Amino acid sequence: MSLPNNRVRVVLLTQAIGPLDYRLPDDMVAGPGNVVMVPLGPRKLPGVIWDDDVFGDEAIDSSKLRAVLELVECPPVALGLRRLINWVADYYLTSHAAVLRMVLSSSAAFTATGTIIEYRRTGFEPARLTPQRAAALDALEGAQGLVRELAAEAGVSDAVIRGLIKAGAFEAVTISVDSPLPEPLADFDTPKLNDAQQLAANSMVEAVRAGGFDTFVLDGVTGSGKTETYFEAVAEAIRLGKQVLVLLPEIALTAPFLARFEARFGVEPAVWHSNLRSTQRRRVWRAVADGSAKVLVGARSALFLPFANLRLIIVDEAHETSFKQEDGVRYHARDVAVMRGHFEGFPVVLASATPALESRHMVTIGRYKGLEIPSRFGAAKMPEIKAIDLTLDAPDAQHWIAPTLLKALEERVERGEQSLLFLNRRGYAPLTLCRTCGHRFQCPNCTSWMVEHRLVRRLACHHCGHVMPPPEQCPECGESDTLVACGPGVERISDEVNRLLPNARTIVATSDTLWSPEKAAEFVSRVENKAVDIIIGTQLVTKGYHFPELTLVGVIDADLGLEGGDLRAAERTFQQIAQAAGRAGRGEKPGEVFIQTRNPNHPVIAALVAGDRDAFYDAETEQRKSAGAPPFGRFAAIIISSEDEREAIEAARAVGGAAPQVDGMHVYGPAPAPLAMLRGRHRQRLLVHAQRSVEVQNIIREWLGSLQFPRGVRVGIDVDPYSFL
Ligand code: ADP
Ligand code: ZN
Ligand code: ZN
Repeated sequence: MSLPNNRVRVVLLTQAIGPLDYRLPDDMVAGPGNVVMVPLGPRKLPGVIWDDDVFGDEAIDSSKLRAVLELVECPPVALGLRRLINWVADYYLTSHAAVLRMVLSSSAAFTATGTIIEYRRTGFEPARLTPQRAAALDALEGAQGLVRELAAEAGVSDAVIRGLIKAGAFEAVTISVDSPLPEPLADFDTPKLNDAQQLAANSMVEAVRAGGFDTFVLDGVTGSGKTETYFEAVAEAIRLGKQVLVLLPEIALTAPFLARFEARFGVEPAVWHSNLRSTQRRRVWRAVADGSAKVLVGARSALFLPFANLRLIIVDEAHETSFKQEDGVRYHARDVAVMRGHFEGFPVVLASATPALESRHMVTIGRYKGLEIPSRFGAAKMPEIKAIDLTLDAPDAQHWIAPTLLKALEERVERGEQSLLFLNRRGYAPLTLCRTCGHRFQCPNCTSWMVEHRLVRRLACHHCGHVMPPPEQCPECGESDTLVACGPGVERISDEVNRLLPNARTIVATSDTLWSPEKAAEFVSRVENKAVDIIIGTQLVTKGYHFPELTLVGVIDADLGLEGGDLRAAERTFQQIAQAAGRAGRGEKPGEVFIQTRNPNHPVIAALVAGDRDAFYDAETEQRKSAGAPPFGRFAAIIISSEDEREAIEAARAVGGAAPQVDGMHVYGPAPAPLAMLRGRHRQRLLVHAQRSVEVQNIIREWLGSLQFPRGVRVGIDVDPYSFL
């Protein structure tokens, strides 16, 4: 179907409603992809002209349409990207608007080019500072940004910053939004690849040169030099004058990546993540859209940026579940990356030492191409992995490090080598209770325990961020000093190490301590400069990092991840421990890994100790197949929530009652979600389990579309869920 010449279909950016039709004024030249301002009621709103083949408000007569108000001077959203947006909206059952907001995710999309005013310290300290102003000055040493950003960073009001500007403590700096980014040099410092690396690189380089869609799974053991290898494909895209996107799972991995990139290509790449100042955001957004940013490294949200001529996407550590977005649009960046390659016609590389079972399966059935690098680069050997049976080699009471592991740590400290202790639990203790009455501290907003963070003297909820100071008295029985910590978190392990090995210099590395690229860079340089003997960290430090002096890895509790028992528990545990183990012995000195467990015979542990990855994957694949689980079948979760518990239950019952009968599909629930309350909302869940041939999205769209919900009820749909909470 095609619309008359002067009629256009517009997706509004801020409204979760379907596309609306408008009249294009005679003197305005615009087509699909153009950003425009249109009227809606009394308001003037931004939107994008869409293709005619999406459903609009056909019913309105052309002569009655309101006119497009203005054409925004901004790069249009290209056809391939519009198709991707259509696909994401369809597949993940969300609105075009919600996806489009991730594309036009900077005010750069709506402002003409030019300059902007930021503020920075002058070095002048006004006399008679209020405590607030003094604290703000301290906090903003070396900072630069808009008034609003500086206020947020210092945790003060805008007025405090404006006062400091007036007093002369800050000065204005004019920032050009569009100053050019430095160009990476394809052949700045080309490494000599070994044979396996060269073979893998050739395939990717060839695919970049040829253009066209293809998906590679770059499967190389930890330390095999995957980065060096895919850099060759990046170099080829640079030679062609095209653009590359590298997706990383955590912003904490950005800093070491930037350093390696600069060593290889002479300059740092452009960066995209949530911590950018708005001027940086704007500049990068523009440079991506006009094609001048050749290489962008970023978090998953970078995936939706309007690249002018993208030729390659690399998803590094592609198995990471943090590529799955859990709020807003619930999409999986790995899968959307592949779809972007498909719609825009370029290769996509999924790099990992422990590929997701789904990705590996795609190689098996011939949809993706597998590239393998089977051994570590240079003289480095894979570490030796041993299990410690905690029932035989037990730590003392209220201790968590077994004698064997402690001895190994001691030896490393003596030899001046480094160690990593891995425990995937932030804070001091996962549970705090009263010794007298047994009261447990629970979050007032969520069905979860408050986690003690001793370094900052707080109890915190890891689901909603609620914090409180540890009370002196038990709120239940009123007794003082009766609170006891139950179980270990990384801070507690750090205490244990400090007590048992007082000479060892330790560092706790988690998302609480490495929350920005700068903090992460500082951590890396401390470890590299050998100012640290023992790192105690969560999954955050188990991947990506390359510390040649690190020769010992201890996994404190290998059973932790297996307990939850969700669909991917075994796979995730295997990946996490294999990645953690992969940090050991990456230099010339051999590495050793101890896995503490109560079940040394568990298939996951046995496969890790035997170094038999294929055995694990094959057994796990068989299990998934017989259960009809992904990639052989699929799930979708429907979460119904309300502040009012009864309302949530009733709405969930209505959804359950309207569930269609479809061959090859089964609906479980409704039942209270495992996390029955989250951020003050009561949650009910239905789980749809279907064979691959079932068109789950269409079915759910029709099913839910026929229902009406009270205002206070929210219905969220999670297609291909990763979290089953
Ligand atoms: P992976 O990401 O596969 O775990 P890395 O890319 O971190 O491995 O590589 C491990 C180490 O080996 C890094 O220090 C890297 O610079 C080095 N390395 C890998 N390949 C080469 C090469 N061809 N020439 C020089 N150094 C290399
Ligand atoms: Zn008590
Ligand atoms: Zn909470």
